[in-house]
Amino acid sequence: MTARFAEVELRVDTSKLVPQDRQALAKLVAAAHVIDDIFMKQYWSGDRDLYAKLAKDTTPLGKARQRYFWINKGPWSALDDLRAFVPGVPDRKPLGANFYPEDMTKKEFEDWAKTLSKEQKEQAEGFFSVIRRQGGKLHSVPFSEEYGADLLKLAGLLREAAALTPNASLKKFLNLRADAFLSNDYYASDVAWMDLDAPLDITIGPYETYNDELFGYKASYEAYVNLRDDAESAKVQFFSDHLQEIENNLPVDPKFRNPKLGAQAPIRVVNQIIATGDGDHGVKTAAYNLPNDERVIQQKGSKRVMLKNVQEAKFKTILIPISKLVLPASAQADLSFDSFFTHILAHELTHGIGPHQITVGGRATTPRQELKDLYSALEEAKADVSGLFMLQYMFDHKLLPGGPEAERKLYTSFLASTFRTLRFGLHEAHGKGMALQFNYLKEKGAFLANSDGTFAVDFAKIKPAIRDLDHELLTIEATGDYAAGKAMLERLGKLTPELEGAIAKLKDIPTDIDPMQSTL
Ligand code: ZN
Repeated sequence: MTARFAEVELRVDTSKLVPQDRQALAKLVAAAHVIDDIFMKQYWSGDRDLYAKLAKDTTPLGKARQRYFWINKGPWSALDDLRAFVPGVPDRKPLGANFYPEDMTKKEFEDWAKTLSKEQKEQAEGFFSVIRRQGGKLHSVPFSEEYGADLLKLAGLLREAAALTPNASLKKFLNLRADAFLSNDYYASDVAWMDLDAPLDITIGPYETYNDELFGYKASYEAYVNLRDDAESAKVQFFSDHLQEIENNLPVDPKFRNPKLGAQAPIRVVNQIIATGDGDHGVKTAAYNLPNDERVIQQKGSKRVMLKNVQEAKFKTILIPISKLVLPASAQADLSFDSFFTHILAHELTHGIGPHQITVGGRATTPRQELKDLYSALEEAKADVSGLFMLQYMFDHKLLPGGPEAERKLYTSFLASTFRTLRFGLHEAHGKGMALQFNYLKEKGAFLANSDGTFAVDFAKIKPAIRDLDHELLTIEATGDYAAGKAMLERLGKLTPELEGAIAKLKDIPTDIDPMQSTL
């Protein structure tokens, strides 16, 4: 089970930080470790005791259990539908984690919630409280009380870091976040996080609600301590500055183009120093979009943070070995993390262009509303293909250094990445959208199957094929044509025997990484 997670070392160069930020960093790393403690309390009531017990078992089995526990931050395996991998615990992770009494049913909660005042109900169903039972009756307890001692420690560390850093936006965020940990009101600090722009970057607090599988109400604590990647941030800015030009040239009927793009969600590229809590269990996060609080999103939008060195570690430990099995040896030299990552940036940016506000039969609507269940897969494919289109456009117009080598690297790295995505299956949007692209490009002769079971790119055919595919996808979105989208996905969004054979060869390649995090 642990072999599916390849150990990697995450390296970050902190030498350019000013001395005060280096001191602040040590405080933030200490704060991140406190987050692990809180997260384990949230995940399961027996989590910390079991971990302490496993740590005492020095047999090889005991050590393996301890390591796998730490990867999952609990006794249930994320890659195996959260089934238990040690004896003496519930067979599967409790749906409500430790946010609710373990014996509470959904109905009991709902019946109770109906009896509450509007304000009490908001707290009971809110992100930042747990539900406990006392004398048989349910009541809600704010995080600031439930995890009071840990949060006091956290607030102290954040304030110490705030006093050290010379960066005003970081100082402001850390002080407001420290207040939030104690007051249980996260709004002002979430707003300050949107404005955070500092060499030393941090995300810390209760955020995602996935561990509350009962209702999806309760937020788990996580921390990411990062360094901003200035070169990649400059690249994002350069791309953003050219986004309108790309929109004006998209391969779609000009009447569907948007002459004035609105403001785009900001993208930050960082390198992760340490991730803890909910940000470090099961499959490792490579990018995140936060916050989730609709009130903040209404006022400030949300921000996408991309963890470049995590993506690079996944590229080296997963994508390179995949490519050795599905690409010919002659193509290996063209695999490039830089091309791969630049395409991911282009993918994220092109989600923001193309049809978003459309008219169908005189009605103002959106592609999402018209394409319904098909939308996610088609939109993911559109972002991949439009991202390739955008980079090719920038090569052709001398906005990026192009030429045959740059093109070989871009399309070869893309071909290898299709297998990584397809490996996760077609049950979700990225996999289905990727099968559609692969099969379309194969039909057009842009991807070729070699007789030895490997695949290759036809570099003359791929450029027009990408244009044509982008034209089809953008037109389906622009016209909200559900029938056309369905026909396209039914025909192409599947695994051919040839693809299945290629994916079967990948079974021994690690699924994910297990970063060895240094604490400086
Ligand atoms: Zn996407």
